Amino acid sequence: MNQKESLSKRMKLSWKEMPFAGIMFEPGSSVEYKTGDWRIEKKPQIDGEKCIRCFICWIFCPDVSIKRVPKPYKKHTESVEVDYYHCKGCGICAAECPVDAIEMVEESKDVS
Ligand code: SF4
Ligand code: SF4
Repeated sequence: MNQKESLSKRMKLSWKEMPFAGIMFEPGSSVEYKTGDWRIEKKPQIDGEKCIRCFICWIFCPDVSIKRVPKPYKKHTESVEVDYYHCKGCGICAAECPVDAIEMVEESKDVS
């Protein structure tokens, strides 16, 4: 039984079958929910030419939506990508980037 099946089965339990004190043995995970759907107006776009791979954006993103990826680029072995499925468009990454490599662009603009 995978986690989703198990969770849906639990949701069909009556209150008498609920675990004592409502203890959650399998808490929900944001990985399963594309919270990036909440984003409105703008999304971050990383300029690979300007980026110096300092990973400050990765540290500051409150939604863990900056991913470090093994993508060799010039002398670096890793790069950064935005997880648009979970990015909420707050713009913190763009504000913290020391070289202005992240621009907040219109939501409708295709940055893939
Ligand atoms: S806009 Fe906000 S949520 Fe999206 S990647 Fe940047 S810091 Fe994270
Ligand atoms: S903060 Fe800017 S320079 Fe540093 S890794 Fe992120 S995009 Fe690149």
